[in-house]
Amino acid sequence: MKRNRIDSTGTKFNLDERDMPASWYNILADLPFELEPPLNPQTLEPVTPDELAPLFPATVIEQESSKKQFIDIPGEVLDIYRLWRPTPLIRARRLEKALGTPARIYFKYEGASPVGSHKPNTAVAQAFYNKQEGTSRLSTETGAGQWGSALAMACAFFGLDCTVYMVKASYHQKPYRRSLMQVFGADVISSPSSSTGSGRAILADDPESPGSLGIAISEAVEDVASSPGTKYSLGSVLNHVLMHQTVIGLEAQRQMELAGDTPTTVIACAGGGSNFGGLAFPFLKPVLKHRKHVPQPGALNSLSGITTPATSMPNDMAPKIIAVEPEACPSLTKGIYAYDYGDCSGLVPALKMHTLGHNFVPPGIHAGGLRYHGMSPIISALFNEGFIAARAVKQRAVFEAAELFARTEGIIPAPESAHAIRVAIDLAAECTETGQEEAILFGLSGHGYFDMSAYEAYRNGVLQDSVHPQSEIDKALAGLPKK
Ligand SMILES: *Cc1c(COP(=O)(O)O)cnc(C)c1O
Repeated sequence: MKRNRIDSTGTKFNLDERDMPASWYNILADLPFELEPPLNPQTLEPVTPDELAPLFPATVIEQESSKKQFIDIPGEVLDIYRLWRPTPLIRARRLEKALGTPARIYFKYEGASPVGSHKPNTAVAQAFYNKQEGTSRLSTETGAGQWGSALAMACAFFGLDCTVYMVKASYHQKPYRRSLMQVFGADVISSPSSSTGSGRAILADDPESPGSLGIAISEAVEDVASSPGTKYSLGSVLNHVLMHQTVIGLEAQRQMELAGDTPTTVIACAGGGSNFGGLAFPFLKPVLKHRKHVPQPGALNSLSGITTPATSMPNDMAPKIIAVEPEACPSLTKGIYAYDYGDCSGLVPALKMHTLGHNFVPPGIHAGGLRYHGMSPIISALFNEGFIAARAVKQRAVFEAAELFARTEGIIPAPESAHAIRVAIDLAAECTETGQEEAILFGLSGHGYFDMSAYEAYRNGVLQDSVHPQSEIDKALAGLPKK
């Protein structure tokens, strides 16, 4: 079937099925610096592939540190991607008009997937490699339920059992996300639970604990250790996850070409960093290649209010790349770059990353997918080296942007994705003042149709702007592993 590649208004830029990328982009091949290795959480020595084998299939372990620039997407995975990929790239003309901005605003819409976010891009790949290597069950954690839904669906496609430890607070606040996972056949357990030692320890301390992502990860990993045939799957942070997500940016690059435009700024929200990396890495590729000098710490990016610890982009033609995080969980803008555990019990390898400390419990903001204490090691290093910028935004301003977007473009965004919208709108407003003609591309990582209680809280005026006090962050940082 032939599709219109550009609609008559020049608003929607569709790729043909056969234009879907056939390989993922592996940024590890192009980084102009070495990443520091993950460490065994007990010995704090670099982990060996053998130590990871109980948790992940061999192909995934290999991808985690591969230096191959492009890695073929298996045909079985492409067949499933085709159910919703390529996703649309849309020019937000009605939003531009409402803002009266000379900026051109584009967004890449990952909410078009069956579960409503970018997460299946990696869930399907991980389930496939596990099936291929004889795994019978996957164990994982989920915060807001987006990752759990994606993995439950992927497991259903490949005939794998799936157990999801769901943070207790969301288990009760988001019953429909829970039902969605159950419809796909997953076993959903409220975390902390009495089925694991980590869960029992937390419950003994506080029977009313609302749970956290760090606790749920500990439970999911412990489950693997005690059940043969079961492996673990993570929805963000790790290198292979970000690589699987690069289908987003690879498609967006071709769609921007169809639009006859080049983005001057690329924006995405960052929790563990997977949708941000997926969109931004293909756009960073030429920048990494052309870097000629070592950045100097301390210089500020030209955009107001944006923190970069080093010099701005080395290449004038390169887009500015901005990660957006909540002020309530600011791992890039307020965290430190150090080794820390990925979970709260120290069961998974320690990673060199921007972190608020593994004991940091972020306030219960509605963008549950952004409540993680750490950040992808690749993104942390890129930030530290000055290749990308970061901005932290407040919850109410995020929902204000989300409503304006819904009223102009017709899509109710996930609260996580609305963080990117907030900054896109702020930059477009700056263009209105300066008359600058920027082309802004942002990632709309998901829709918000399971988040209506959050919108209701915003509309009822009960939503708080919680900024975490520095003293809380300092306290959590004091608990970092000492090397
Ligand atoms: C999980 C999630 C995020 C945050 O995770 P990243 O790994 O940082 O992308 C953002 N948006 C949506 C819609 C999500 O489901």
